[in-house]
Amino acid sequence: MILEIKGIDTYYGLGHILHDLSLKVDDGEVVALLGRNGAGKTTTLRSVTGLTPPKKGEILYKGSDISGSYPHLISQKGIAMVPETRDIFSYLSVKENLSIARRRNSRWQMETVLDRFPSLRERLDHKGRELSGGEQEMLAIARALMTGPDLLLLDEPSQGLAPMVVNAVMDTIRELKEQHVSMLLVEQNAEMALQLADRVYVIDHGTVVFEGTPAGLRADANVTATYLGVGGEA
Ligand code: ATP
Repeated sequence: MILEIKGIDTYYGLGHILHDLSLKVDDGEVVALLGRNGAGKTTTLRSVTGLTPPKKGEILYKGSDISGSYPHLISQKGIAMVPETRDIFSYLSVKENLSIARRRNSRWQMETVLDRFPSLRERLDHKGRELSGGEQEMLAIARALMTGPDLLLLDEPSQGLAPMVVNAVMDTIRELKEQHVSMLLVEQNAEMALQLADRVYVIDHGTVVFEGTPAGLRADANVTATYLGVGGEA
């Protein structure tokens, strides 16, 4: 087990967002986290990375409790997040964006990362702001890989991308899975997530309302209609 979230409660100020939320990611698994806008998906990722630490519960990473650790220490342990906003440095070049994230002992050195993203190699000297949305997403993933993560947290990687580019992002996620990177994938695009995931959680109001396989979720018309707005009147 690479990640085990056990009964966490997370707040923004007085706003109680996550309620006794538990989920697991096994070694090498891709786990999808789905739910409507505001359900608490990003807050779950921020709880894991230490940006918004939970007030209650445990977050075990490779068996040790990391809840309450500083974000930089959690990152050093091997957890990387690709935020929804991508957060690449728009006035730095692709090469500089990647160099900043470099870590000496990472199994993903610059050359390895560029082999995986040939379009970034072609644009090494371009500034972040000159890239297309798809290239920016690739750069955000590539930058996360530079830190050598064993667990990658992806927040809506398909957002704002054209269907063809979404397919390229999906191929990347599949390849990373083959290389045994475990992933927790937050998506609004349920179809994309269900094609990639080994297991899936649906959350609503900060609580898990479904846990199972993609096939199990597809078969559950009640959950898909109520919480994902798919195939029903919700
Ligand atoms: P979305 O797809 O809209 O990002 P989400 O499932 O990721 O949805 P979260 O971003 O985790 O949802 O937000 C959960 C709840 O927390 C929402 O009600 C949101 O308004 C609230 N929230 C998010 N960020 C903050 C913040 N910085 N301060 C206060 N409340 C926040």
